[in-house]
Amino acid sequence: MKILNFGSLNIDYVYSVNHFAEKGETLSSESLEVFPGGKGLNQSIALSRAGGDVYHAGVIGTDGKFLGELLCDAGVDTRYLKVSEDVRTGNAVIQKDKNGDNCIILYGGANQAVTRETADQVLKNFDEGDCLVLQNEISEIPYIVEKARERGMQIVLNPSPMNEKIFEINLDHIDCFILNEVEARILVRAARDAGKEILLKRLRKQFPHAEIILTLGEKGSVYAGTEGTAVQKAYKVKAVDTTAAGDTFTGYFMSCILQGKSVKESLDMAAKASAMAVAVKGAAPSIPKRDEAERFAE
Ligand code: ADP
Repeated sequence: MKILNFGSLNIDYVYSVNHFAEKGETLSSESLEVFPGGKGLNQSIALSRAGGDVYHAGVIGTDGKFLGELLCDAGVDTRYLKVSEDVRTGNAVIQKDKNGDNCIILYGGANQAVTRETADQVLKNFDEGDCLVLQNEISEIPYIVEKARERGMQIVLNPSPMNEKIFEINLDHIDCFILNEVEARILVRAARDAGKEILLKRLRKQFPHAEIILTLGEKGSVYAGTEGTAVQKAYKVKAVDTTAAGDTFTGYFMSCILQGKSVKESLDMAAKASAMAVAVKGAAPSIPKRDEAERFAE
């Protein structure tokens, strides 16, 4: 079975500053670092490093060709990655101050140039039994979900970043939700202080046919679905950079499940891989390979 991740690819421009730019101020930066980013890209790398047969679909501009090369190097098939001459790759301009706090401007760019025509061209190559993985950073997601459903694909949604656009999707078509507590609260319209028990209950009630995985940061994760319920601890590491923790978790969990592992085994591998990602600086480069994750010990 094939895994299709239809998702975002970004270029992150990180500027080091003494303080964040204020109104009318021209601010010099001491350094500029350029990083690959986008939840779609991170999840494809995790899906592939965990051993899955992964195809990444999405749109980049000519300035983002190196992102495609990075995916290829990680073993991802990029034949459905479209390079557009007319639009810039999605990007984030990040000011980082001395305390490590940041201030971000996100430009969707090519990620918002996914059209229905592009979606049709990609989806016609996938069928019943294949799996579609989605986040919330590209255009035309409701259409992609409809069409994937018609083709009998399994659909996994990581509703991140969470916003009202999620409710434009026919959520009854989603077979598996992987989400954190903040995303879950918005999805089920729960109170700000609603804890994991309430969230899981509400998610199960609202999506009775779906598999639900709720991630809880350093408190681990919980599962509820066709295999009952399961609780997974987070592995103890010195947290250096939590960027891509959720993406690593999603990629590893799905890849393991689709390779025939049980929910329990898949949760455990996902927890190990995401703990390793948290212990290393950076997003994509911090996602471990399968054998490294298997060897992980606290
Ligand atoms: P997101 O990044 O989407 O907000 P979480 O913060 O819930 O997602 O993290 C996803 C998973 O990554 C957790 O379920 C856990 O297994 C792992 N993780 C996150 N933070 C830590 C941490 N500080 N130490 C160890 N594991 C972590």
